[in-house]
Amino acid sequence: MSRLTPDLQVAAGSLVNGTDSSAGDDPQKMPHDAPAADHAVSPSALSGALYVVATPIGNLGDLSPRARAVLASVDRIAAEDTRTTGVLLSHFGLRRPLVALHEHNEDRIAEQLIAAVVAGESLALVSDAGTPLVSDPGYALVRAARERGVPVHAVPGPSALIAAISICGLPTDRFVFAGFLPPKSTARRARLQEFLHEPRTVVVYESSHRIGDSLADLVAVLGGDRRICLARELTKRFEESLTATAAEVLAWQAADAHRSLGEFVLVIGGAPVASDDAPGQVNAERVLRLLLAELAPSRAARLAAAITGASRKALYEIALRESALPQSEIENDDNSSPT
Ligand code: SAM
Repeated sequence: MSRLTPDLQVAAGSLVNGTDSSAGDDPQKMPHDAPAADHAVSPSALSGALYVVATPIGNLGDLSPRARAVLASVDRIAAEDTRTTGVLLSHFGLRRPLVALHEHNEDRIAEQLIAAVVAGESLALVSDAGTPLVSDPGYALVRAARERGVPVHAVPGPSALIAAISICGLPTDRFVFAGFLPPKSTARRARLQEFLHEPRTVVVYESSHRIGDSLADLVAVLGGDRRICLARELTKRFEESLTATAAEVLAWQAADAHRSLGEFVLVIGGAPVASDDAPGQVNAERVLRLLLAELAPSRAARLAAAITGASRKALYEIALRESALPQSEIENDDNSSPT
């Protein structure tokens, strides 16, 4: 069973004391912005625990000191591809036993690996690049650990998702991660259709051989005016990104054959909010009320749903309520500002 290496103790110490070397372990003495003393790197916590470790998405300088220390110290490392992780470890002069854990064997070996952790082993999980479980293997392992009451510690670090979000210049207060777009155009367009009325920013991953087709589908479904960001080869030598309208990004990507190579994140700005700043449901209600003046509730609800993308069922319920009101009240309400 492993114990902390001197390296790890240094890393833990530098985390705690990074901004104030006199602070020591006493939380009372910690400056406000210093990280709290980290139980996850204390010697006693290392055994019998699973560490989910983020690794670089291109630039090896992005492996955190703590990630390196944990990888140097654990009994075993479960890796998506042992050769890829082997290269990473040797770059940092590390040698630890590796076991392959990928989408084809994960369900089968997760229980075995966690049984060893329950018996006292320490285990790290890494993927080929970035944060495990973000479009990468590891879910079965973490679930098994949680089910067996095994402590699971995050060793956070690079992720293409977060890297792209942080530089895209699109609203990031609320965003949705939608994984990879489907490879076939019909399914891909159907997925993009789901984002037509999505007010939050949407992030998707895309591979090099599909990026051009995906951008073309995006323009076809969401329109050329939607603002998007295409980020390519983040943290790597040929990193580049553009935030512009979808039509402009499509033209930019097609203009240079190099821009079909490498790894891509696509950030799609949310559906534009109506100019009166009203959320979609309020606009749908307005449309519904106009239609209700001329049409029966079911037809008005169906048309309002088709026009605005709001739920037909919800609009029908509103329509039934509204039709029960005297006409004067409907008109008065129409003139009041929606809430
Ligand atoms: N777990 C990883 C993470 O946290 O970002 C993602 C793994 S997923 C299998 C690989 C996809 O992530 C690539 O196809 C690409 O869409 C995106 N990606 C990974 N590295 C990237 C990079 N350096 N620049 C842009 N996108 C990247």
